[in-house]
Formats: sequence, C-alpha cells, structure tokens
Amino acid sequence: MTSAALPWLLPAFAAAFGLVWGSFTNVVIHRLPLGESIVSPRSRCPGCRNLVASYDNIPVASFIVLRGRCRHCQTRISFRYPAIELAIGAASLLSFLRHGPSLEYVVEFAFVTAMVALIFIDFDHQILPDSITLSGLALGLALAWPLEAITIVDALAGVALGGGLLFAVSELYFRVKKVEGMGFGDVKMMAMVGAFLGWRGVLLTLFLGSFTGSIVGLVVIGLSGGDMKTKLPFGTFLGMGAIATVYAGPPIITWYSALF
Ligand SMILES: [Zn+2]
Repeated sequence: MTSAALPWLLPAFAAAFGLVWGSFTNVVIHRLPLGESIVSPRSRCPGCRNLVASYDNIPVASFIVLRGRCRHCQTRISFRYPAIELAIGAASLLSFLRHGPSLEYVVEFAFVTAMVALIFIDFDHQILPDSITLSGLALGLALAWPLEAITIVDALAGVALGGGLLFAVSELYFRVKKVEGMGFGDVKMMAMVGAFLGWRGVLLTLFLGSFTGSIVGLVVIGLSGGDMKTKLPFGTFLGMGAIATVYAGPPIITWYSALF
C-alpha cells in the first residue's frame, strides 16, 4: 500500500509522535529544574511511590482510562499532563501539515516543544534553564545554514535584537526600580527565539507576549487585589508569544506590511 492510498497515515503518525513527545516533555518540565535525569529512572506516583506501569503511561489514553487517578492509591493526576500531551500532539500535526516530512517540520516542532517546556518551567519555578535556552540558541544558529526559511543574517539579527532588547529593558528596570525585575534567563530565551524566528519574529513575539502578559497581569492584580509587585513569569508569556508567532506569524506580518 502506498502513502497516496492512505493520505492520513503520515499525519496520523506525526500526531501520535507528538503525543509521545509531549509525554517526554512532561518529564522534562518536572525533572529538569530539579536537576534530575530526564531519561531514568521510570516515573513513580508522587502519592504511593509505585512505578507507573508502561500500560498506564500511554499519552492521554491512560489519563482517560484511569479517570485522572493513580491505579494504586487514587491520588489525583494533574490535568496538565494530558493537556500538554494534546497540545504538543496538535503542534506536531500542524507543523507536519505545513511542511510535510522535512527538516523544516523537525526544526519547527522542536522549537515549539522547547517553548512549551520553558512556559511551564518558568511558571512553576521562575527559571529558564540554560540547557534549553543556550542549547536552543546554538542549535537555531547552526540550523539557519541548511534551512531556506531563514538566512543566517536574519538569525543573527534576531539574536542581537531579541537578546539586546531584553537586556536593555532589564537594565532600565534595574536602574529605575533598584530591584532585579527580569532574570538573565529572559534575555537568553529571546536570543534563542531570534535564532529560530529572525528579527521580525522577535518583534512579533515581544508584542504578543507583552500584550498577553499585560492582560493577564491586570486580571491577576484585579482578582487578587495585589499591587504591581505581583510577580508574573515573563518567560511564560514570551513562550506563548513565540508559539503564536510560529503558527500565526506569517499572515499577521503580511497583513501588517500591507497597511503601509
Ligand atoms: Zn499512587
């Protein structure tokens, strides 16, 4: 049977691969900030310390079958696990439908996965690990050579703009407020975004990320009655901005350019 006879076969495989990769991303989000190995040992239930059997570790499906509880002790499993698996499965499918079986698909999907990991690690721990941001920066620059989508000049301009703008903002914030408002992690993260998305992608990511962050910030301050010091993980919003830029960026940039 040829793939032409089964046009859905490769996309279905891409989606399934994304679900499995999402499951691995959950492990990275949970273990990387704690300095634990992401390849071993196998996962245990945080409630009863029983090993999670492989048949209870099937992305999304196990969560549904077990109705969100541990098989042994009924401890609730966070809804976040299947949500992240579904999101990364969808990202894989979307990137595959866009690029087909190609290096472009692999690179785009890897970038989006890294952003998802940063979004949740920053949300949980307020850190953006170098092992993702700096490795990503190096990988993004290395890949700008073989890929046609982005030139090395654009990638370097993106690194300079992304890292430079965030560095300037954090310096300014420090001078004015005398407190560290933004970690250096945000600077490295935006440099990585620049390496993958170029300088236009950096601008759109910053715009979308700041816009989302401001809205959420106002809602949080309104709901909690907190003051402006309520700390929001900026990397979380930058990551959301970067993913939105990947999937909705080209039409937004085309539309914006047409205004002038
Ligand atoms: Zn348990």
